Amino acid sequence: MAGPVIDILMYHSIADAHGPTSVSPAVFADQMAALAASDVAVITLDDLVAARTNGTEPPERAVIITFDDGFCDFAEAAWPEMKRHGFCPIIYVPSAHVGRVEDWVGAAPPLRPLMDWDVLCQLQREGVQFGSHSVSHPDLTRLSDFELQAELTRSKSDLEDGLGTAIEHFAPPYGLAKDREISAISQLYKTSVGTRLGQAGPQAPIHDLPRIEMFYFTDIDRWRAHLAGQGAPYLMARKSLRALGKLVQKPWQ
Ligand SMILES: [Zn+2]
Repeated sequence: MAGPVIDILMYHSIADAHGPTSVSPAVFADQMAALAASDVAVITLDDLVAARTNGTEPPERAVIITFDDGFCDFAEAAWPEMKRHGFCPIIYVPSAHVGRVEDWVGAAPPLRPLMDWDVLCQLQREGVQFGSHSVSHPDLTRLSDFELQAELTRSKSDLEDGLGTAIEHFAPPYGLAKDREISAISQLYKTSVGTRLGQAGPQAPIHDLPRIEMFYFTDIDRWRAHLAGQGAPYLMARKSLRALGKLVQKPWQ
């Protein structure tokens, strides 16, 4: 693939728990250390937008670090590791769940708590970026046009009011967005990321960017190989498995 390739890493919870939405703190620390030791740069979605719009060149290999949902373990386990390395991540937050729990469709007990406004504001002061993950974490494709607009506009204004900064990036809950949703998102936000597995090459649509589920890279040697540019065969295999099993239908959060 010609041009820069950006891996948009997707995390949810950093905890010693079962399931594909959790990566253990020890593994996360190893993943971040391997990233810091590699030649791969950590950039932000704003850098990606600038590269697309101004023609500025991002590094040949770069990653963007994203978290969905804003669970409390971000502040406790994830941020100290990233801060140590000087990495700037983005967290996509469902605005009505700030300071509450993940009591949305598909979440199984024990329901994990989300960070409250005080913690979000403190993280922002320390350099963490925020994006919208809707208001109530619904499957956007099942909403009326009116409900869809409300989820997109209210989450943006709620987060902007709460954090005092512009909210310009979006992640649809469960990664579910079809043409109607992507079109509506593109009216309000500069970028949107999905859960489609893949690397974001220069042609990747800015409002339907693929991501890399970091649960697939808990084997640290495999992660190091990926960072060294030898990960394409493994990613292809994971993509084939997902397509075969229709795992995209599972409720990724
Ligand atoms: Zn989510």
